[in-house]
Amino acid sequence: MEEHNHGHDAHTQVGDSHEMTSYEKRAGAILSLLTEKGVVASDEIWRAIDDMDSRTPALGAKVVARAWVDPEFKAQLLTDTKAALTELDVDIGSLNTVVALENTDKVHNVVVCTLCSCYPRTILGVPPDWYKSLSYRSRVVVDPRGVLREFGLELDPDVEVRVYDSTADIRYLVIPSRPAGTEAATEDELAGLVSRDSMIGVAMASAPGK
Ligand code: FE
Repeated sequence: MEEHNHGHDAHTQVGDSHEMTSYEKRAGAILSLLTEKGVVASDEIWRAIDDMDSRTPALGAKVVARAWVDPEFKAQLLTDTKAALTELDVDIGSLNTVVALENTDKVHNVVVCTLCSCYPRTILGVPPDWYKSLSYRSRVVVDPRGVLREFGLELDPDVEVRVYDSTADIRYLVIPSRPAGTEAATEDELAGLVSRDSMIGVAMASAPGK
């Protein structure tokens, strides 16, 4: 593969001792063709990788914390998610639609991609391995309460559980319930309570001090 000069160790090749898999060979061939034909410059590709690497659940946590403290923002997040995210400088990239789902005392939302691993990467970064596992993908739709219990989340029997199946076009962001005892917390402190798992719907936001 050709050289690229962005000075990042993360992108250096794995090394000569490593036998390339067929996927790596294919990706390398596609990259060479795209750059040879002038469709993209290799720099653009590394920039895009840097951009994806910079996306972490902290972005989503910032969005959730704002929704907790600002009812107008939350209303917009629930009705026009893309516009609300743009307001917080969270660019959803090429994603067509992101839908925010609010967890309440009565409704608990949980997100899956039954087909593969569709995930709001632009807001939450790289998905956890379990999200892509066949076990999670197949079981959470059949027995969501049982799967949530395995995550340590026991829901009240009168809470309605809604499972949302992500697609290439629609990604979901769960807004967990604001924990009790956080009335005096700052927005930054609140963001610190919002875990990745709580934004997928397999956990609650953390209680303060935990
Ligand atoms: Fe998928």
